[in-house]
Amino acid sequence: PVLDALSQKFETILRKLRGQGVLTEANIAEALKEVRLALLEADVNFKVVKDFIERVRVKAVGQEVLQSLTPGHQVVKIVWEELGEMMGKEQAGLKLASVPPTIIMMVGLQGAGKTTTCGKLARWFKNQGRRVLLVAADPRRPAAGDQLSNLGASLGVDVHRADRVDATQRDVVQICREGTERGRDKGYDVVILDTGGRLHIDDELMHELVAVKQAVLPQEVLLVADAMTGQDAVSMAGQFDQQVGLTGVILTKTEGDARGGAVLSIRAVTGKPIKFLGVGEKLDALELFHPDRMASRILGMGDVLTLIEKAQETYSQEQAEVARKTLSGKTLTFDDFRDQIKQVNKLGSMEQILGMLPGGQRLRDMMNGDAMPDKEIGRIVAIIDSMTAQERRDHTLLNGSRKKRIARGSGTSVQEVNRLIKQFLSARKLVKAISGPGGRRNLLQALR
Ligand code: GDP
Repeated sequence: PVLDALSQKFETILRKLRGQGVLTEANIAEALKEVRLALLEADVNFKVVKDFIERVRVKAVGQEVLQSLTPGHQVVKIVWEELGEMMGKEQAGLKLASVPPTIIMMVGLQGAGKTTTCGKLARWFKNQGRRVLLVAADPRRPAAGDQLSNLGASLGVDVHRADRVDATQRDVVQICREGTERGRDKGYDVVILDTGGRLHIDDELMHELVAVKQAVLPQEVLLVADAMTGQDAVSMAGQFDQQVGLTGVILTKTEGDARGGAVLSIRAVTGKPIKFLGVGEKLDALELFHPDRMASRILGMGDVLTLIEKAQETYSQEQAEVARKTLSGKTLTFDDFRDQIKQVNKLGSMEQILGMLPGGQRLRDMMNGDAMPDKEIGRIVAIIDSMTAQERRDHTLLNGSRKKRIARGSGTSVQEVNRLIKQFLSARKLVKAISGPGGRRNLLQALR
């Protein structure tokens, strides 16, 4: 799948980050070093990576993040936002003519998938109930015209074609002009021009494309580029944009593009948005490009990230409030500790909700950084319940024989009792921080 290799790396890096209760600038710097490497290995443009890392760093070491209850998650959220930003933030959409037909000029090098993509776009528009005319505007390569005719036939879409042997630039411009005129006269909604391709960029091609553009004044000039070529696709987009002027890019063969260098850098380098992704050879293998969804995919989060955020916010605020109220100005006892743990247990129901969503298993794994597994919570409560009221108020009473008794009573082991006491003691240390207005440290963090 798309950007798989990158996604896997991100997952590992960010899982580590999420698992850490307390983050420092050093933790974040360390994680960002790995993120940087992952992006460079994914063949993302060097400068884009540099800017990206810097933006994430500045946001992530901000006070709100470091002092939040879930700094690891906050950093992941920032990475997500900045990835989306890098790819253009919003879905770019196609500009339609106020008076039809909308003229779409497709440009690109041979083999990138231009003709196929013309067919895919024609199908996409046709499915929206629009009448489409395809124009074969590469008269030097009759085979390309045949290919487009076949695509048109299989889609039930008309193809305008005027192959000329020994065609000149004038002929190409002429064909495109005829095509758009026919589109206008015959009431088509969309005219898609499949312009000529070359093996390499050359001046002749560029002049030809500029001439066509001036002749037909298209609403969209879309570069079709092969995502697998990585930074070559990026620099090509830059050249086409400078010389012809693009409105956007369609990246093809992205389903086999595990690295994602072009998908991630094109927008940031050229300023031109990716509008669609080609995800296979078939004509239905075309997807609108959504930067935010792509960012979610890269981070292995499906499209439910917003949901987590919301849950996270509600939970954090509530939790902090309860902790502050109950613990303010007190010395923590095992009774308080148990109450807090039970409070945390409310997340259990959130875990269940997550479990119902697509990709929920993964999300649940993510949440484990914050939510204790039900079993563990049950065990803690059982251990505390097995203590006497006196023991619950004064942990120093807990000697070896008492611990043994508690372990037996709660169906646990002395080690587990010891572990709980340790957790309890570090939690107690944190209570002061929680009760102060500036201290947004959470009990949970002490438990880790
Ligand atoms: P053109 O020379 O740019 O017009 O390229 P074609 O449209 O003839 O496509 C070249 C090859 O790329 C063909 O074999 C297409 O089936 C293939 N192709 C185009 N788009 C995609 C895509 O999104 N995924 C995959 N796997 N193949 C594609």
